[in-house]
Parts: sequence; structure tokens; C-alpha cells
Amino acid sequence: MSADRLCYPTAATQGLLACHACDLVSSLTLEGAPCPRCGATLHRRKPASMARAWAFLLSAYLLYIPANLLPIMVTQSIFGTQHDTILSGVIYLWLSGSYMLSLVVLIASVVVPLLKMMILTLLLLTVRRRSTWRLREQTRLYTVVEVIGRWSMLDVFVVALLASLVRAGSLATITPGAGALAFASVVVLTMLASLCFDPRLLWDSLDAPPRPLDFPVVNHDGTL
Ligand SMILES: [Zn+2]
Repeated sequence: MSADRLCYPTAATQGLLACHACDLVSSLTLEGAPCPRCGATLHRRKPASMARAWAFLLSAYLLYIPANLLPIMVTQSIFGTQHDTILSGVIYLWLSGSYMLSLVVLIASVVVPLLKMMILTLLLLTVRRRSTWRLREQTRLYTVVEVIGRWSMLDVFVVALLASLVRAGSLATITPGAGALAFASVVVLTMLASLCFDPRLLWDSLDAPPRPLDFPVVNHDGTL
């Protein structure tokens, strides 16, 4: 039997819950009441975790499109105005010989945000379907999403840095485009989605009874 399938005693199965703010362990009957020690509202799991995570994640998916299609940087110089999207920047860097930098921008700005959103989708679908498939690996994936979340703002930092650096001179000005705002929103929304998601929900399917079927089952004799 795999470790995933073993049943361990949990706080919830023992009739207990931990305060999210101060970690005080209280009785499950106090759910919804203020914590006796710090006053924060006690919840067995993060409230409306799934609904909030889905809302933030779907918004992030929607904004991922303008983040890649709209210019992230507008350069104005004596040679004219140039609009750069993330991908055009990656192609420019590659063609000018900066292969490593091009790859770093591609991975940090295109691959990682998409990967994070796909991992969160997998986790949310697992909870929704009450699947018990590779729960350990999925919990590790959640940790990865949390760790890399803070490194995803690379593009926004680069544009902000370039804008402030180039503004010091008078030959050219660089301003962030609408794509930068959409990109920053994708990063923030993905971080909020992972913050709202409660990874303990993944393991609840081992303890909880199976969900009733949403459709009537017809018996062999034709009765419902
Ligand atoms: Zn507390």
C-alpha cells in the first residue's frame, strides 16, 4: 500500500482544528467562533478556498493573453517609437546573440507563469474530483508554486529598471506598456490563487466519504 493510501490521524479526524493566525489547537465545535487566544475566526480549512482560488486562477488565465499580445515596453528615441511584447523581446535578444538572456526571459516570463497556472489547475481539479492520484507529488508541486511565485516579477523589474536608467539620458525614453500591467496582474493573481488554495484539501479525500452521484443510477430491474 502506498503512503498516499495510508490513513493517518489528522486534527480534523480527532475533532480538533488549528487557528490560522496563532496555531492554537481548539475543538472542532468552535469552528466559526473567534480564537480564544488571538481572536481570529477559527476555520477547519481556509474559507471558500476553492471558489476564491478558481476565481483568481481564471482571471490570471484571461490576463495571460493580453500580457503576451500587448507591448510590455515602449521605447521612444530619435529613430522612432518601438513597441515590444515579451516574445518580440525574446526574439530580439536571441537574434542579437544574447542566447542565455533570451532563454532566461522566455522561461521566467512565458513558461513559468503558464506552468504555475497549469499546476494550480491540476491541484484544483484533483480536489474537485476527490482524486487520490499522487497526492505526495502534488503537495510538492504546490510548494514549488509557492517558492517560485516571488521570482516571476522578473519582466516587470527589468522594465522598471530600464525605464529609470534610460530616463536619466535624453536620447531615448522607455515606458511600460499595457502588457506590463497585464503581466504583473497575472503574477499577482496566480500568487493570490495559490495563497487561497488550502493544500490540506488534497488529503481530505482520504478521510471524507465519497460524494453522492449527481445523476440517478438505474438498477438492473429498471428501478431508480
Ligand atoms: Zn489564534
